[in-house]
Amino acid sequence: MTDLSGKTALITGSVQGIGLGIAEAMAVAGARIAVHGLAGDAEAQEVCTHLRARGAADAAFFPGDLRDSDRIDELMAAVAAWGGADILVNNAGIQHTAPLAEMPREKWEAILQVNLTAAFLTMRSALPVMAARGFGRVINIASVHGLVASRDKAPYVAAKFGLVGLSRVAALEYAAKGDAAKGGVTVNCICPGWVETALIEPQIAARAAAHGGDRAKGVADLLSEKQPSLRMARPAEIGALALWLCAPAAHNLTGAAIPVDGGWTAQ
Ligand code: NAD
Repeated sequence: MTDLSGKTALITGSVQGIGLGIAEAMAVAGARIAVHGLAGDAEAQEVCTHLRARGAADAAFFPGDLRDSDRIDELMAAVAAWGGADILVNNAGIQHTAPLAEMPREKWEAILQVNLTAAFLTMRSALPVMAARGFGRVINIASVHGLVASRDKAPYVAAKFGLVGLSRVAALEYAAKGDAAKGGVTVNCICPGWVETALIEPQIAARAAAHGGDRAKGVADLLSEKQPSLRMARPAEIGALALWLCAPAAHNLTGAAIPVDGGWTAQ
């Protein structure tokens, strides 16, 4: 198993959902975890206690609303003072579905800021330190919507395509840093299809409503449209892939956008 003892991982949006699944996988591998997200004190401390119990060398909560670029700079300064991130997972994300002509400008701006600009700012801060150390991993949680489009998701698709492009630029700029023994500096995207988390609850609810409120039928309806496996992914499965990307053996895997989508983008 990948050993992350001595490494620090900052995972944005790690108080729930996919981010928590990734934090748990890295905790089991012995990393120090910088937990982040929109959460009250009690919830944040509960997550840190849980991660320490799972094996994290340490876990501390770092606040910072990603809608505000100044807060992002403060977040990165606080994590730098804690030792800096050897592993940066840009996971926090938001969604709003509506036809393009009805998409509120505030939703466009918020989705671009949280899902794309925040990743630029965290990477700009973290990558030079990773390069100096000869080891670094940036794992950006994009989406199948960074590879293909769906209707009613203009800002989300624009942000996720942007995140894939941003990751490729960074991968090129840092490809030659470090060496195989240290692990090098890699930048990749994970592109999930449907993963059962709070983020997609409104979309499940809308489908369930069309089946008399039957949630299971709503989920089946959503999957049958685009995800050939007909199975949701679970946050722990995304966590397992993220952990594998941190292994020294993954030093030559960079600039990739890896689908975990049950065949969605194979069609
Ligand atoms: P989620 O809603 O369960 O979690 C989102 C996380 O982001 C939370 O921890 C929240 O605190 C944090 N967050 C949201 N807005 C924030 C802000 N302004 N400032 C700081 N933190 C903020 O969602 P999830 O499904 O776990 O999504 C995680 C990532 O996975 C997102 O980038 C999402 O686009 C992506 N994704 C999800 C799915 C899916 O089916 N669930 C599919 C593809 C991609």
